[in-house]
Amino acid sequence: MSRLPTAPARFLLASFVFCSLTLGTYGETPVTCASPPSAEPQPTEYFVSVSNRADHQAHVSMRLRDGGDIRTLDMPVWNALYQVRDFAANIEDVRAQDASGAPAKVLNTTTSEWQITAPAGCIVVSYDIHLDSPGPFGSALNAEHGFFNWAMVLMYSPAVRSQPMSIRLLDVPTMWGLRDLHVLGAAAPGRVDQLVGIARNYDELVDSPVELGSFQQSEFKQDGATYHVVVDGNPADYDLAKIDSTLAAITHAEVDWMQDRPYDEYTFLYHFPKGPGGGGMEHAYGTAIDMNANRLRSNLLPLASVSAHEFFHLWNVKRIRPQSLEPIDYQHQMDTRALWFSEGVTNTVADMALARSGLIDQADYLRRVSSAITELEDRPARQWQSAEESSLNAWFEGIPFYRSPERSISYYNKGEILGILLDLRIRQLTNGRKSLRDLFQWMNQHYAKQGRFFPDSAGVEQAAEAVAGQSFADFFRDYVVGVKEIPYDEFLSFAGLRAVATTATSASAGFTTTANLGAQPEVTKVDSGSDAQRAGMMVGDRVIAMNGHPADASLDSEISGMAPGTLVRLQLENRRGKREVDFKLGLRTEVSHQLQDLATVTPEQRAHRTAWILGDDEPGRVP
Ligand SMILES: [Zn+2]
Repeated sequence: MSRLPTAPARFLLASFVFCSLTLGTYGETPVTCASPPSAEPQPTEYFVSVSNRADHQAHVSMRLRDGGDIRTLDMPVWNALYQVRDFAANIEDVRAQDASGAPAKVLNTTTSEWQITAPAGCIVVSYDIHLDSPGPFGSALNAEHGFFNWAMVLMYSPAVRSQPMSIRLLDVPTMWGLRDLHVLGAAAPGRVDQLVGIARNYDELVDSPVELGSFQQSEFKQDGATYHVVVDGNPADYDLAKIDSTLAAITHAEVDWMQDRPYDEYTFLYHFPKGPGGGGMEHAYGTAIDMNANRLRSNLLPLASVSAHEFFHLWNVKRIRPQSLEPIDYQHQMDTRALWFSEGVTNTVADMALARSGLIDQADYLRRVSSAITELEDRPARQWQSAEESSLNAWFEGIPFYRSPERSISYYNKGEILGILLDLRIRQLTNGRKSLRDLFQWMNQHYAKQGRFFPDSAGVEQAAEAVAGQSFADFFRDYVVGVKEIPYDEFLSFAGLRAVATTATSASAGFTTTANLGAQPEVTKVDSGSDAQRAGMMVGDRVIAMNGHPADASLDSEISGMAPGTLVRLQLENRRGKREVDFKLGLRTEVSHQLQDLATVTPEQRAHRTAWILGDDEPGRVP
């Protein structure tokens, strides 16, 4: 993940014309220091052959033009997800040769580092890498397509990591097209050996994943910008025109809200798999999003919701960026207390944008706030894990136990609520004249546009105080750093609302699952005496499918929306193999929190409510 502050030039598309006949020999002949010179040689040149699609294996050659007689190469241990994934584990057969073509000595010095000893000057390092993790956080190469998050594919030389680098894809099937998220790789299908582009540095390169394959695409223009929509999926599963018009409503709402458009082109890249898929990954000039095709068919709102979230990230986290995530350390996890803001408040804005763009109405919006409150209040860990601590421990999210409600809260969830509370508090203090909108515009002007990073929570606090003209010290002490119970009604009354806890009955699965981002849900708890237990479900089972449909992170909420007594059939897998169980859903009582009107709602409160939900200021009001 990289930051590109305000400079317009990012990936510089090579302006030279190259001969595809000459480059065509790269796939058959290994890349050497003597092989065809580029018109514009870069300090680092990557050549990635995709000929071995059957084995999910890419062959990478990396040419370093200059350097001393001992050179270090590193492979990132993390990228995209805040989880250490040790990408070096997928690498095999690292070799090197010097300028004369003679083999050079290669030593694996640490798990993610290699040392090459060769005479000073040009060297070529090559290796194979296994790429078989689907989804926006992964990289995959197979008969259907290729998708590359480059930090999972390409080693880098720390000595020249901040210098320009070029990348070419070799042995691309004739009918495949190529798109990258900087909108520069739109080469026509049929071109073998494609130059993807030249990045100014490694951070930029890895922020521009590439899709390779047969995909559908469209584009729309709005407010002077071009939006590209690229879809890898079965055209029977979606209506591209409908997706375009939904996206246009979202992009217009957010650009107008921020009063800023720091790009000329932006790309939405979608994968719609038949199997599990869920999640999106933000980039400075685009986003990659996965969604299960069946879910998409019934309703476009989940796709709109993820898209609104990822799109807002182009400001919040990509440009309005916490200091704790810079400079990027690809070799170690990076502790940050800011994800409640960078992720959670992005949720707040995404929901507002859905309302602002007319994709949901005010009642829908209030239902979303209600369920966010219910989710937080339902997690016992809220009593001792703060929003900041939840951010800091994001790196544990790959561990099923960590995700359980007793162990952790979600910085997405509490952060979303904190965004709502911040908005309402700023509005209260200014009688509606200022809002979260001004806070983001202030941070955009004072950090993003200045090329500076904000000092995590302290930077948000400073912005809130600048906008509202009053102290937010108590707010941050109690709800961001601390774990004080949130007095919702104190905030909501400004909009004529209160949160009411109600007890309701719903279907009980008899088990609880958690899911790592984009992965299948895993059973973390089975209720004793439940039908699920009698049917033989066990902690550690992974749920592959429910009633014939692939299961994903939404399994638990799907079940709670079903009627008690419904028969469910689950396909499970664990270390002993696959099996099927079926049983009837039980009944459980749960406390849910609903936003309701106060006994009397004044016209002023109604006006505040509408402005709040639509993200508008009320400039005409007297302080
Ligand atoms: Zn996000």
